Amino acid sequence: MSDPTITRTNTADLYDAHVVKNYARAALTLTRGLGAQVWDDAGNAYLDFTSGIAVSALGHCHPHWVAAIQRQAAELVHTSNLFRHPNQGELARRLVQYAGPGRVFFCNSGGEADEALIKLARLHGVSKSGEDGKCYKIVCAKMAFHGRMFGGMSATPQEKIQKGFRPLVPGFSFGELNNLQSFADLVDADTAAILVETIQGEGGVNPCTQEFLIGLRKLCDQHNLLLLLDEVQCGIGRTGTFYAFESAGVRPDAIAMAKGLGGGFPIGAVWTSENCANLFQPGSHGTTFGGTPLACAAGLAVLDVIEKEQLLAKVRAQSLVWIAALEKLALSFPKHLLGVRGRGYLVGLQMNGDPTPYVTALRENGLLVVAAGNNVIRVLPPLVATPEELAKSVAIIRTVLAAKA
Ligand SMILES: *Cc1c(COP(=O)(O)O)cnc(C)c1O
Repeated sequence: MSDPTITRTNTADLYDAHVVKNYARAALTLTRGLGAQVWDDAGNAYLDFTSGIAVSALGHCHPHWVAAIQRQAAELVHTSNLFRHPNQGELARRLVQYAGPGRVFFCNSGGEADEALIKLARLHGVSKSGEDGKCYKIVCAKMAFHGRMFGGMSATPQEKIQKGFRPLVPGFSFGELNNLQSFADLVDADTAAILVETIQGEGGVNPCTQEFLIGLRKLCDQHNLLLLLDEVQCGIGRTGTFYAFESAGVRPDAIAMAKGLGGGFPIGAVWTSENCANLFQPGSHGTTFGGTPLACAAGLAVLDVIEKEQLLAKVRAQSLVWIAALEKLALSFPKHLLGVRGRGYLVGLQMNGDPTPYVTALRENGLLVVAAGNNVIRVLPPLVATPEELAKSVAIIRTVLAAKA
């Protein structure tokens, strides 16, 4: 039973006393959410344009998603992968419909999905060279973020993330995003794969250009490398297509996804093409919790709502208006806001310096956003955000910029 003396007012003290201090947490306690809004413990409302870092795709507590989880929780929550259950097969089928012929492996987070990509690259290297441990290198991008596990962290060339954890997993090298030659220069006989985010999120909202993705596909085909795309942040409709790479017209060999897939319930997945899928054989990889009936019910509910409410078309249309309004702000406040990057509901505001004071001021004015890179504010509305909510975010950003001007 929970301690009756625990009240909402001492949450901050409990964190101070008992929670590991590995986050620079905002001084805000959230207790309730609905759609694009959340409320704090004093009853103040905020427009949540963090979406829990690109996770709450349907906003908070969407009724279809809530009902799906409630129903499944009362029926069957966990089976392990010793057995089948209907939801995992169905969610795999629907993800394959979006990605193309292939198969899906389920896990629980973005970090785990990236780890599966890296292990897939290693297995491809073995089949390519006929030797275990020879062909294992992976070329990644500068400013990349592939999670905090050892493989993904080793693929994340940022001192603040790698510091203190050496030795790292060997074999990763880093080209300049959108500079194909810099990637080609790093490929050698021991290279197994290229891994990039289609749009870098944590690194500051840096999209791969269409030409760059097409070039990477050709480079991979020439050298028998896997093209691995990390769509953990930019996938699941965030850019107005189900996967962000779709607009480039290329097909990768594998895709990592997570964040938005469960709409707030933890789930990760890797799609791999039919050829690569067979690299994984019984015993070669696994996870106890991967693709539970409950997690897959959440994922299916997210896909249902994306389809029924035509959210992809809405994100495409509404983001054009919204981004144009943000670009106008950059013209009005050129000393603060240097530019607007990104696509759909994955947008970066490039600030003139440290984004933290702006993030704080926006929060104090009722808009929650996330810092990224060194000088970027990431704005991540839920896919269900209305035109009015998008317009309100622009008004709040204008207010904050005007106060600082
Ligand atoms: C968030 C993120 C990850 C890590 O996901 P977790 O669920 O936090 O492990 C990996 N790659 C990208 C691109 C991300 O944005």
